[in-house]
Amino acid sequence: MSEPILRVALPVPLRRLFDYLPPAGCDGAALLPGVRLRLPFGRRQVVGVLMAVAITSTVDQKRLKRVVELLDAAPLFTPPLFSLLQWAAGYYHHPIGEVFASALPLRLRQGERAVVDRPELWRLTPSGEALQWSDLGRAPQQQLLWSHLRHAPSGLTLAALKLLHPRPLSLLRAMERRAWVEVQPGHPEPATTIGEVQSPPYLLNSEQQQAVETICARLGRFQPLLLHGVTGSGKTEVYLQAIAAVLERGEQVLMLVPEIGLTPQLVDRFYCRFGIELGLSHSGLNDRERTEVWLRVAQGELPLLIGTRSALFTPFARLGLIVVDEEHDGSYKQQDHFRYHARDSAIKRAQLEGVPIVLGSASPSLESLYNVQRGHFLIQRLHERAGVATPPPIHLIDLRQQPAENGLSPPLLTGIRHHLRQGNQVLLFLNRRGYAPTLLCHRCGWVANCHHCDARLTLYAGRSDMICHHCGDRQRVPLLCPQCGDRGLKALGSGTERVELALEQHFSDVEIVRIDRDSTRRKGSFSAILEQIHSGRAQILVGTQMVAKGHHFPDVTLVAILNGDQGLFSVDFRGMEKMAQQLLQVAGRAGRGEKAGEVVIQTHAPDHPQLPHLLRHDYDAFAVEALAERQEVGLPPYTHLALFRAEAEQGEDAARFLQQLADAAVDAGCAGVELLGPIPAPMERRGGLLRYQLLLQAGERAALHRALAPLLLWAETLKSGRKVRWSLDVDPVDLY
Ligand code: ADP
Ligand code: ZN
Ligand code: ZN
Repeated sequence: MSEPILRVALPVPLRRLFDYLPPAGCDGAALLPGVRLRLPFGRRQVVGVLMAVAITSTVDQKRLKRVVELLDAAPLFTPPLFSLLQWAAGYYHHPIGEVFASALPLRLRQGERAVVDRPELWRLTPSGEALQWSDLGRAPQQQLLWSHLRHAPSGLTLAALKLLHPRPLSLLRAMERRAWVEVQPGHPEPATTIGEVQSPPYLLNSEQQQAVETICARLGRFQPLLLHGVTGSGKTEVYLQAIAAVLERGEQVLMLVPEIGLTPQLVDRFYCRFGIELGLSHSGLNDRERTEVWLRVAQGELPLLIGTRSALFTPFARLGLIVVDEEHDGSYKQQDHFRYHARDSAIKRAQLEGVPIVLGSASPSLESLYNVQRGHFLIQRLHERAGVATPPPIHLIDLRQQPAENGLSPPLLTGIRHHLRQGNQVLLFLNRRGYAPTLLCHRCGWVANCHHCDARLTLYAGRSDMICHHCGDRQRVPLLCPQCGDRGLKALGSGTERVELALEQHFSDVEIVRIDRDSTRRKGSFSAILEQIHSGRAQILVGTQMVAKGHHFPDVTLVAILNGDQGLFSVDFRGMEKMAQQLLQVAGRAGRGEKAGEVVIQTHAPDHPQLPHLLRHDYDAFAVEALAERQEVGLPPYTHLALFRAEAEQGEDAARFLQQLADAAVDAGCAGVELLGPIPAPMERRGGLLRYQLLLQAGERAALHRALAPLLLWAETLKSGRKVRWSLDVDPVDLY
């Protein structure tokens, strides 16, 4: 009798499974899908995941190799997660072995044993608890850690404390020497008991109440609910109370947040409410910590996991609810390798797990609103701002009448002065880093371009080189125009640095902070800056979208959008949607506390047809129009897109490869699918490579997938594909 055949997914870029014989002395027929196997592949050994046990193989049994080692006694993937990953590999047409590998923390991917080291917990001693905020006035970093520890009666892991400080250990040791904190061995048992609750639930308003009831009435079965309410309308309070109900049932919760949405404030709020050890999954974790969280959630030890995109692929012992906060956020879409969308995949997971999913947003994606229209999602609106005031009024400043200098127009400067005089804070939003985006010769029109990209170089203040934001290349700032020798080179346009410098001139006695990827590059500097804002020392904040998300600054009363034109004239069909979402998000920063706020937008296009809706905070009216437009021209969510991208040193190679794909698609007669291209990408040259793209568009999702599947298998074998780096993006967020 022949042996059972193990069908294995391997971490290689091929869209197929590989057949192996069971390890010596092991009953292959008894193995369950989802266990890891170490096996020979070429000249190496790799770790794969068992997908199925079969009776026959297309490969001659004598030529099959044998698995070296069985790594797990039980599957690492729960059945719903296993199905989700299979679905994702099919839906995104990504090699299945890479999909499974990307779900595993690195250590498990490398074949380490799946056993948990329980982390130690740090907590305040009675004398630590007796301290006052002011006792630590001379040690602001310790003060920060202390205030968070105070909210976490059952103690915090080092992984959680890393959200607050890059190297918390030395601070903790110092506090330990003074007997303010103590370290506890990790829980020997699952932390099922809910500790002391420091902030009891609020009495909900009727809309919040309805939302919580809707969720609770559907526990135990699949139901998406869109929770649409402006910033400050109490969405998080709804999550908290729905989560409490799920924990009460002994079930677990997964909450996804955008990349920069996992703030100490949010974490504090959960500690204060539940008093339990939280599972946190964020980019600051090292691999040991990531593995620990993954395994402890899998074993049901951590009742609540809050994390960014990739937390979606954590196995849960008893998942009861999924929450996706800021569901419209672009960071849910992975932009390289395995290009999945975490919100869309979370909906699929909720369906497979048979649990409700809550999608929260102040400005929902058009996709989700369309799903409400079609009856696929329920919707609950939160109209009132919980606690305070009406939404802040939004005014326009017409830059054609009142030109800006260094990004700041005269009426804006007057406004800033006025708000500062009241003792309030001002937030200026500009989605552009650096000093200026362009260096131009006024005499001959020469512009400083990157040598490797179709892009301009960005100038930085006080630096002698300019940087390309697309490939990172640098060039020295020339003293004379390289083309005509003129001395009159001008920095054109404004980035956050230039605005900051101009503000220092105008408001010399005021503390100003800048928040962007450059100013927060050093770990921990972001939390230090946030501290500066909360303590009120800094009065003016200038920043990119990093300031727009999740932060609650009660003393900010004026929010200004310096370059309102950026989104209005975007080439991307989602540009306007993103602009509207960003505007509402930024506007939501104004007047969140007791004080009323206002918002101003500087623009050259005050008559833009979409602006009136946004000025009235009427996202619904905006969305209705935007959806009608998408329907009229046949764009998502009314049609479905897939984008092949190809790049090569020689443009012809990339174009030829895509042309062969297009021809093959036509030959296959893929009904219901329209082909656009190959055409050069909007930024044709990037990092020295020439880029082309081929867009597939279909009215029916199924037709698109029918066309893609054979095309990809064929593309893998194509000779012209070897000189080319290519990828497929299903449901692309950006078309470039
Ligand atoms: P969102 O998540 O929509 O921005 P939050 O849940 O953070 O809104 O609520 C905004 C503020 O209002 C918070 O300070 C919160 O504590 C408070 N809040 C929320 N719900 C209530 C309520 N029902 N009663 C009183 N205050 C509330
Ligand atoms: Zn010149
Ligand atoms: Zn470049």
